Amino acid sequence: MSFFIKEKGNMVEKESTFGFVPIIKCVGFECNMKCEYCFYHQLEESHQSMNLEVLEALIKETYQANIHSPMVNFIWHGGEPLVVGKKFYQKVVELQKKYNQSQKQVTINGLQTNGTLIDEEWVKFFKANEFQIGISLDGPPEYHDLYRRYPKGRGSFKDVMKGIKILRKNDIPFGIVSVITDVSVYSPERMFRFFVENELYDIKFSRALGRDYYDGRLLKFAPNPDEYGNFLLQILELWLEEDNPQLKITPINEIFISLLRGECGLECLFSNKCDRFWIVNPDGSVHACISEGIGEKWCFGNINAGSETLIHSSVFQEFQEMVTDLRKSCLKCKWYNICKGGCTIDYELEFFSQEKRNVLCKTFQRLFQKAEEKLIQYGLV
Ligand code: SF4
Ligand code: SF4
Repeated sequence: MSFFIKEKGNMVEKESTFGFVPIIKCVGFECNMKCEYCFYHQLEESHQSMNLEVLEALIKETYQANIHSPMVNFIWHGGEPLVVGKKFYQKVVELQKKYNQSQKQVTINGLQTNGTLIDEEWVKFFKANEFQIGISLDGPPEYHDLYRRYPKGRGSFKDVMKGIKILRKNDIPFGIVSVITDVSVYSPERMFRFFVENELYDIKFSRALGRDYYDGRLLKFAPNPDEYGNFLLQILELWLEEDNPQLKITPINEIFISLLRGECGLECLFSNKCDRFWIVNPDGSVHACISEGIGEKWCFGNINAGSETLIHSSVFQEFQEMVTDLRKSCLKCKWYNICKGGCTIDYELEFFSQEKRNVLCKTFQRLFQKAEEKLIQYGLV
């Protein structure tokens, strides 16, 4: 794909090399659940789903922008992305066939769901179209049902496990995203055993952010960084003791892969590519990933204007500078090649701007150190 840009007063044609990954909020904030730590419930409810015109522009732009990449990723998100219904995704697949004209690019559709709406029909669709499924499950019922509940207050654990059972029965691979809260953070062993005993071997732990959308106050659900660090260090020990090659835990696996390769792994967390992950709202507006939960500041424009216009917007360029600037002090760090400054969200820059330091920095340094010691002990580095 080429585009024109003004250089020294002349319009010059350039070849685009900037690929992005859309994280698509196809249903806005709509969800069949009301998890207590989800900031969407602090906002006015929006029931606007993405219309077909926006969907088509998005799919077309995503293939064009990633023309030099062998893989094109779409991440379907919400609210709850299954609320939009099967016809929407049938259209997605149809449009992907239309715009992946060379058919040389591999299309990857990732879908992050709360798992409660999965039925046999969804499973047929996922299988036929090779969707990669992520299920939100916060551990055993005493932790999961504490915050992940329906609007009338009933916990969702049993329904999520039912969804998992249907996926398994139909041989659909899936991963788990488990949010660590102010309560579960004190029980790494219970969490770890729950997942292993249930043969849930692909797990991603993430820290509950739990901020007030308007003033940035940390809410009670968010574990503090030291507590989260202790949790991950214990998970690392348990993972090593378990010695099960099937068991993949993010970010522990990524840390070991990075140390062995001497550079960052595949997770966006350690890639310093925050400018490549674009939140796309139902109306086509595109935001930086960090905009989730902190307001509307980093909006690059609308996908209907074309991705090149967005990439050349002043907001996008300001965002790239900000991301680079935040990591200046990281350049001297021993771990920079594998950490790349971590996740921009963890700088909590909107609310603690004088700090300009990743709040999980010490946590990561402890993890890198521990993982390196283990690799030395095993004679692997
Ligand atoms: S802000 Fe964090 S979650 Fe978003 S792309 Fe960057 S590293 Fe990934
Ligand atoms: S460990 Fe801390 S200082 Fe080092 S690169 Fe990561 S965030 Fe930056």
